[in-house]
Amino acid sequence: MSNRTYQSGAAKRKKAAKAKEDISKYLPLTSFLLVQKSKPVVSEDVFLCPTSNFVSIDSALLPNETLEIQQELEPEQEPEPEQESEPAQVPEPVQEPEPAQEPESNQIKTYPNATTKTTQETDPALWHQLSQEAQSFWISNGPSMCQNNDGSFKNSERLSCGQKRYLSKSCFRRELHNGEFVNCEWLLYSPSTGSVFCFACTLFSSKHSNFSTTGFDDWKNALKCISGHENGSEHHKNMLTYSSRQRESGQLDSVLLKQLHNKQLYWQNVLKRIVAVVKFLSSRGLPFRGNNETIGSEQNGNYLGTLELLSQFDPFLHEHMKKHGNSGKGNTSYLSANICEEFICLMGNKVLSEIISELKKAKYYSISVDSTPDLSHVDQLTFTVRYVKDLAPVERFLQFVPIHGHGAEHLETVVLNLLQENEISISDCRGQSYDNASNMAGQYSGLQKRIKDKSESALFIPCAGHSLNLVGNSAAGCCLEAIIFFDFVQCLYNFFSASTHRWQVLLSFVGKGKKIVKQLSGTRWSACADAVTCLHDSYDEIKKALEFLIKDISQSKETQNDAQNLITKITTFEIVFLTIFWNDILCHFNETSKILQKENLNLDVAVRILKSLLHFIKDLRSQFENYQEKAKILLPNTDYRDSSNRTKKRS
Ligand SMILES: [Zn+2]
Repeated sequence: MSNRTYQSGAAKRKKAAKAKEDISKYLPLTSFLLVQKSKPVVSEDVFLCPTSNFVSIDSALLPNETLEIQQELEPEQEPEPEQESEPAQVPEPVQEPEPAQEPESNQIKTYPNATTKTTQETDPALWHQLSQEAQSFWISNGPSMCQNNDGSFKNSERLSCGQKRYLSKSCFRRELHNGEFVNCEWLLYSPSTGSVFCFACTLFSSKHSNFSTTGFDDWKNALKCISGHENGSEHHKNMLTYSSRQRESGQLDSVLLKQLHNKQLYWQNVLKRIVAVVKFLSSRGLPFRGNNETIGSEQNGNYLGTLELLSQFDPFLHEHMKKHGNSGKGNTSYLSANICEEFICLMGNKVLSEIISELKKAKYYSISVDSTPDLSHVDQLTFTVRYVKDLAPVERFLQFVPIHGHGAEHLETVVLNLLQENEISISDCRGQSYDNASNMAGQYSGLQKRIKDKSESALFIPCAGHSLNLVGNSAAGCCLEAIIFFDFVQCLYNFFSASTHRWQVLLSFVGKGKKIVKQLSGTRWSACADAVTCLHDSYDEIKKALEFLIKDISQSKETQNDAQNLITKITTFEIVFLTIFWNDILCHFNETSKILQKENLNLDVAVRILKSLLHFIKDLRSQFENYQEKAKILLPNTDYRDSSNRTKKRS
């Protein structure tokens, strides 16, 4: 015997298939987003006020709406006719006494609730090949003429478990919570076959089902199956078709359509709130889901958490979550993670199509592509486009594309596929901008060359921000003094940040509102400016903090030693000189870099700003004495460490 406690592969597959089947039964979200051409039952703006929602929807709903909503919760099940379900759970229709007479099948009939006589066939079992004319007739006149529920149901006799059963009139009625009964408008009785049909499904459904083609006659499970059919997606779809066709034919809404509209209205209002939450979270880049997706749990994530918060002030949402929250798989609540993801997907596609249409309107565009690994170590290609809108340049992120290599050929395929998928013509590409890596910028087989072969006008301009970063980094990297200096800045940060006590000492000396030592930035070199500016602005205070730590006997010998080493370095003339010197250079670099990254930057400004930076740097060559003077003011009576060594050697 196996002792395993986990599920087998087959069991898991079965479970997954069941889950998929359950999901496929839900109505697609888009079915609730149909724009209603007819006058809505309740005006739209009423629903914007959270407190009025509850009242409005309640009063907009027909008395039986509450029942319908509850039924929406029930899993859609249409048990096979031969399958016996637990009789205890299903209320059996009351057996009708054997009917005495069958209504005569006259060709011309009059109906108590209809004002017209008809020559049309009123038996739905005989509607197999309904003419256009007959279909139009039923669309305009509705189901009341062909329900056939006023006579007897003699032909509905069926044998079930050795017992005669008949269709009950109670199947045509539904009891509301308040005890009131309403007519089940869509259900039709066929006197010839003794079975029942669905009005909308018989008219419009292309699928084979008991209610649309053969007729339903499992009277033992009648109530459950009728309710199940009414809440099924196919029935809903056909009712919508009926509704729109009737609207086209200029008919006023019948009770049936009002019921349908109210149901739609209810779910639209649920979805409005869900859309608002999804929009709110996604616009702020917040994560959606938590570890536990149960309403009421503190770990249920931002999506359910925000809905819970809203429900505290929104009685409609509160009521919905109370009834439908945590209803489990197979039940419709539109609160699940699947719905949430479907919405994110729909919204993402909408935003993308909006950008694409703007781009196509502008006709000419340029592309900017770079790759970076994400948290799950998948390399993602960031695809950005730039075009002109209202006489100003706009830069839009299109999408992330996972890539499997960095070869120019692969990248070319990815870029061209993405453009093709969005029906953007490569021949309208007027510019491309990447970093300076050889696979991107390569002159002979880089991505830029390959794109240029496809579209000659796609001029390649290396990313100015990337280039500036590279120039600065390389220039500083080839100077030993600069390396030693930046190493010292990093050591200073490491020393103070390693202990909270040291950090507090530093804070007490530097005081509020002044900059504190910072770490060097590994990615954006110009951001080293922050770290150097802190050292420059708070030089004396940092020195005093180090002196305090050396004298503090409560500190360990190691700390005192480290502080001593740092103070020896910080009081050298070279460090002071370089602090002032690099502070100036980096501030200019940083400002230039920020301008180069601006969305509305154009080539002219980029060239001018780079020329200005070059001019400034060149000018520094003649400023040596000035910097020396400044350093001497900050640290008087000190000279270069190296010069004293050299003097000794020479003497
Ligand atoms: Zn139906």
